[in-house]
Amino acid sequence: MSSIAIDGPAGAGKSTVAKIVAAELGFVYVDTGAMYRAMALHVLGRGADINDASAVAGACESADISIERKNGEQRVILNGEDVTGRLRTEQVSSAASVVSVVPAVRAKLVMLQRELAVKENVVMDGRDIGTVVLPDAALKIFLTADAEVRAKRRYLELIAKGEEADEAKILEDIKKRDQRDMTRAEAPLKKADDGVSVDSSDMSAKEVAAKILELWRNRSE
Ligand code: C5P
Repeated sequence: MSSIAIDGPAGAGKSTVAKIVAAELGFVYVDTGAMYRAMALHVLGRGADINDASAVAGACESADISIERKNGEQRVILNGEDVTGRLRTEQVSSAASVVSVVPAVRAKLVMLQRELAVKENVVMDGRDIGTVVLPDAALKIFLTADAEVRAKRRYLELIAKGEEADEAKILEDIKKRDQRDMTRAEAPLKKADDGVSVDSSDMSAKEVAAKILELWRNRSE
């Protein structure tokens, strides 16, 4: 099986780009952030303190997370319930980055992610795909963009959905999440040694996808 790893901070455009690349190559798109979000939802739902690592590790044991596909889209199933529609709130985003520092959480989800990549060709996005989950991925991309650009994108996305949004607050949350993801002890967000950096600040998602497809076609394997 072949895989493409796309890592990078929140809002760099990973999922949009990964979906285009996966569709183009006939690969399956795997969104690993959604799994950490489902875990956060589970921990919050059990009333555990997300800042207490042993409480999180305990709650994690009763989370049965699996992935299904419906009309080509990834659905996340938590203890038998499709929770996909409940994963994108700011509360869950922020809790996901807190619970994802706990080693027991990572061990459980990394195992699930590797199982998926054994069965199918995947484009997998996250924070540690090229460094930890799939160190043998055929292509590893580190996708970044300036924090201000990422906050603006998120702001416009929310406004387009008719939701209220505060751009300054979004920027502050993004910076906090970046800091937590990059400085944690286990599987911090960083470029793999053999990864290729792509800065999407001045590029459209289509342009980034075209660049990745070009790298894929020219890869040396
Ligand atoms: O990518 P997304 O924003 O949905 O991820 C939510 C959070 O899950 C991230 O802020 C990060 O802390 C965590 N995460 C992770 N490792 C991954 C994917 C996501 O730690 N592979």
